[in-house]
Amino acid sequence: MSDCVFCSIVAAELPADIVAEDEEFLAFRDVQPRAQTHVLIVPKVHVDDLDAWLASGGSSDRMLAFVTSVAAGEQVAGRYRLITNVGEDAGQTVAHLHWHVLAGPRLPGF
Ligand code: AMP
Repeated sequence: MSDCVFCSIVAAELPADIVAEDEEFLAFRDVQPRAQTHVLIVPKVHVDDLDAWLASGGSSDRMLAFVTSVAAGEQVAGRYRLITNVGEDAGQTVAHLHWHVLAGPRLPGF
């Protein structure tokens, strides 16, 4: 999608601090980190959110396997928080499915 910031990162039209990728997914550091480790994981195809991903037949198994491999690569396996916001009311500001992997000392509760 041409006006999507994460599509621009996937297309290498915008710079990002990329930490991992495979054929389907890309992981890069959040530009405004809210924890010591704050990585975003996106599908390379444009999908608005998790509901749309699952409705279009996207594999939650493959996606979550990639997410956990990123956590392991960041040395935070066993001590991270995983969040995906679905819709503006939930706090989604970029309408391209993404998982936040957050880790570090004293993550605030909610
Ligand atoms: P959300 O509020 O769940 O939609 O999260 C969107 C996240 O994308 C925020 O944490 C932003 O800091 C992050 N973000 C926005 N633009 C960029 C960018 N160009 N590179 C990396 N992270 C970004």
